[in-house]
Amino acid sequence: MFKKILIANRGEIALRIQRACREMGIQSVVVYSEADRDAKYVKLADEAVCIGPAPSAQSYLHMPAIISAAEVTDAEAIHPGYGFLSENADFAERVEQSGFTFIGPAPESIRIMGDKVSAKQAMIKSGVPCVPGSEGALPDDPKEIIKIARTVGYPVIIKAAGGGGGRGMRVVHTEAALIHAVQTTKAEAGAAFGNPEVYMEKFLQHPRHVEIQILADQHKNAVWLGERDCSMQRRHQKIIEEAPAPGINRRLIEKVGERCAAACKKIGYRGAGTFEFLYENDEFYFIEMNTRVQVEHPVTEMTSGIDIVQMQIRVAFGEKLPFTQRQIELRGHAIECRINAEDPVKFIPSPGRITTWHPPGGPGVRVDSHAYANYFVPPNYDSMIGKIIVHGDTREQALARMRTALSETVVEGIQTNIPLHRELMVDAKFVEGGTDIHYLENWMAARKR
Ligand code: ADP
Repeated sequence: MFKKILIANRGEIALRIQRACREMGIQSVVVYSEADRDAKYVKLADEAVCIGPAPSAQSYLHMPAIISAAEVTDAEAIHPGYGFLSENADFAERVEQSGFTFIGPAPESIRIMGDKVSAKQAMIKSGVPCVPGSEGALPDDPKEIIKIARTVGYPVIIKAAGGGGGRGMRVVHTEAALIHAVQTTKAEAGAAFGNPEVYMEKFLQHPRHVEIQILADQHKNAVWLGERDCSMQRRHQKIIEEAPAPGINRRLIEKVGERCAAACKKIGYRGAGTFEFLYENDEFYFIEMNTRVQVEHPVTEMTSGIDIVQMQIRVAFGEKLPFTQRQIELRGHAIECRINAEDPVKFIPSPGRITTWHPPGGPGVRVDSHAYANYFVPPNYDSMIGKIIVHGDTREQALARMRTALSETVVEGIQTNIPLHRELMVDAKFVEGGTDIHYLENWMAARKR
């Protein structure tokens, strides 16, 4: 096994990866920006290297600084976490060219999945169900575009091949608005992602977001670890995730999960990954694949008992997956609430010093957070300061445990979205299960009135 791993990330995921390393007897090196000097995982690290000032471009996104840190500390592998450089194929390639192992898929897999047109084509070839739409990128000829839209049927959504983070998309309801929308999206995509290619999909009106977690090794083995429902979103940002997805036919999910695992084998994928789907009227439609560990991975760890981060490390080292699909047993129900440093009503970020920090505990409760009393939440990064995850035998028990956990949690000095989570955990529709991706925004709009 690796003796030393460099963690190229920050916040709760840096601590999460560090914990996995420690349990496996692997030394961890953390890199940090000047804004993260006092972070918990920096203090706990076997070695820590400051890689630059607070702005991400000069620290967590600065490839030469990260690779130099691995060189001076003699790390053997680099774990990219999520966000930052985790889905950057050039980074993965530079890591490998510098003689380190990238804990993730091959650069080529990241590249294919990073381009939504090529990702979709790979999925169609592997028999994974996709949203009906254009075959590949849209042509230039307006007449052709109009023809495609008529076949797909309105409303349609124009999406940038290189898009991400909810950007580079435009919904079109009528033929009159189509060509202008395509041209605008193309121009924006060219400027924002350096790739003007766009494609078209049928716009689904009330979908849920359901995703499949997979793990694959370098010996042609791939398994799926169940699904997660992440429909509770604001501006395409997930805030609550749960597993299993309430009310969906198990046979149907199994079929989709098996397809995802088969697709991994077919494309030679290795590591952890997530196939994201929209789910509507008993159908799954692939939208994209994330080639990294996700924020919500603990939900699956709770139901499967499998440590996803440790598995990432093991398969990156070349080990075989220690279980087959038949040996995977999913148990009970798990829910995760993302705790953000922000105003719970207006969502304005609320960085600053945490004066009081009482995380919850008890049976089936897990807290993944780098925060502590007197920790200063820097204003430079994502506002997420941690996650509360609960597990119960049933969804009802998990909900009850989350309500108790949230009632115990005290964070003072900054504002957090905990009050929002407390409200949602008793919201009749959420409690019933199966709300769609627009539910939270509609709920907030209704609250304002
Ligand atoms: P990104 O990489 O920017 O996150 P995705 O392709 O994952 O882009 O889409 C982000 C979100 O946009 C989805 O979660 C969904 O809310 C919405 N969306 C994307 N495609 C469609 C579609 N065909 N119909 C309805 N909503 C869509």
